[in-house]
Amino acid sequence: MAQPDTHTASYDTIVIGGGISGLVAANRAAELGLRTVVLEKGTADKYLCSSRYTGGTFHVCLTDIQVGPEKLAAAIDATTRGFARKDVGGAVAKDSLRLVRWLQAEGIKFVNLGHYHSFVLAPPSRTGPGLDWEGRGGDVLLRTLETNLKKRGSHIQRGTRALALDVSTPGIIKLEVEQAGGTGTKSTLTAKAVVIADGGFPANVELVRQHITPVPEKILQRNALTATGDGLQMAMAVGAATLGMDCFYGHLLSRDAMNNAKLWPRPYVDSLATSGMLVDAHGRRFADEGEGGVYLANAVARLADPLSASLVMDHAIWQGPGTSPLVPSNPHLPNAGGTLHRANTLAELAALMGVPAQALQDTVAQYNQALESGTLPQLSPTRRVDRYKPWPIKVAPFYAVPLCTGITNTMGGLMVDQDGAVLDKNGAAIPGLYAAGGASGGLEGGPSIGYVGGLIKSVLGLRAAEKIANFSA
Ligand SMILES: Cc1cc2nc3c(=O)[nH]c(=O)nc-3n(C[C@H](O)[C@H](O)[C@H](O)COP(=O)(O)OP(=O)(O)OC[C@H]3O[C@@H](n4cnc5c(N)ncnc54)[C@H](O)[C@@H]3O)c2cc1C
Repeated sequence: MAQPDTHTASYDTIVIGGGISGLVAANRAAELGLRTVVLEKGTADKYLCSSRYTGGTFHVCLTDIQVGPEKLAAAIDATTRGFARKDVGGAVAKDSLRLVRWLQAEGIKFVNLGHYHSFVLAPPSRTGPGLDWEGRGGDVLLRTLETNLKKRGSHIQRGTRALALDVSTPGIIKLEVEQAGGTGTKSTLTAKAVVIADGGFPANVELVRQHITPVPEKILQRNALTATGDGLQMAMAVGAATLGMDCFYGHLLSRDAMNNAKLWPRPYVDSLATSGMLVDAHGRRFADEGEGGVYLANAVARLADPLSASLVMDHAIWQGPGTSPLVPSNPHLPNAGGTLHRANTLAELAALMGVPAQALQDTVAQYNQALESGTLPQLSPTRRVDRYKPWPIKVAPFYAVPLCTGITNTMGGLMVDQDGAVLDKNGAAIPGLYAAGGASGGLEGGPSIGYVGGLIKSVLGLRAAEKIANFSA
């Protein structure tokens, strides 16, 4: 298929962003005969994005995607306590496995690492502490999908940043773009449809301050720093509504990860946090550890000082959940240089942590007693016991890990329907405008900070392309 002049051209579909959701949308659109281009602001051959760094597990709410659409839809509903839009949740539940099968047909290879990790991009990236992406699943996926796109007569236009949308002409969207290199050269492309797949806004400090934490400087960017909310802002400027903006997907990490690259994106300490307890600078619990690591990561971000929280546990937890699989904290956290306070008494531990000794002793005693008497759910804050087993904190030596919280992806974003169509504040689709992946909102978040999944949101890329092509799956 001949491509027109790339700087003034007109397309059937323009995709903003060359991560997984953009490349799924673009390949599916090109496969269905649409003249398509991907605009990618990165200039490098292997431009960075979350998809390049990904751990690669395709799951829905930490559930194996093979359990069937009904169970997946129920999991989405339960995890988000009804916050997820029924249409979007239903589409993801219905098409998760179809997405993986479609990727397999594109030549993408998966490995089964057990439990809900039945489809993990090969080769897996979880090789040890620190970042390991080159030649790993996400990197291979992006390069494979780019090769396929070229074979379909389309391409990724690198060094092109989308800036602004104009939807005032019926049937046509005008997109202002800027070329990389600081020349300030701007041009306008046109298309019948635009798919925003720019990864959301985790790396936009001001948007994160506005929606997620009062002090974004004190949370770790556990991502590639390339998802800066451009799509969100340009769509909002033409009337798009947003949903679930206050929650993020992320993990709890050693506070030393703020300055030590070996300590992120792994190991993260979620399995320790959901077994033991989190305390603030006063030695007091402040969140329900039983809600899970992603919930706790958000709770820490919401503290006045997100760098003031610590994880407290005993020897049994350190030797048990601490050694659980997928780059466990024991031994990787101390081996990679992360602080692990260790003491024979809680009073000594408190001194190492810099929290009041009596307060920490009281907090632990109260927790142990509630655990013994079966009254953890009555504690304040409450402690759920149905998801993650609470362990007593009794066996010396005692340990503490100073924490930071890492933001991987924003959960919320542009309000979309089941096909990724971007909706306005009245719930009506903005003609021709779509969002997929991290740019989309409506699947995750809510009061329980319900985490559904990052990669799985590229279902919306697949469906958006099919909707644009009037293809019925
Ligand atoms: C370390 C790590 C581990 C993870 N593990 C998992 C996991 O195991 N399972 C899971 O489900 N999820 C996981 N995730 C999350 C998952 O990888 C992401 O949710 C997903 O890759 C997001 O894909 P995306 O296409 O929406 O965005 P991205 O991959 O972020 O791609 C967006 C692209 O858009 C480009 N862009 C941005 N703005 C513009 C603009 N204005 N113009 C042009 N281009 C633009 C960016 O440069 C980028 O290349 C992980 C993420 C990380 C970082």
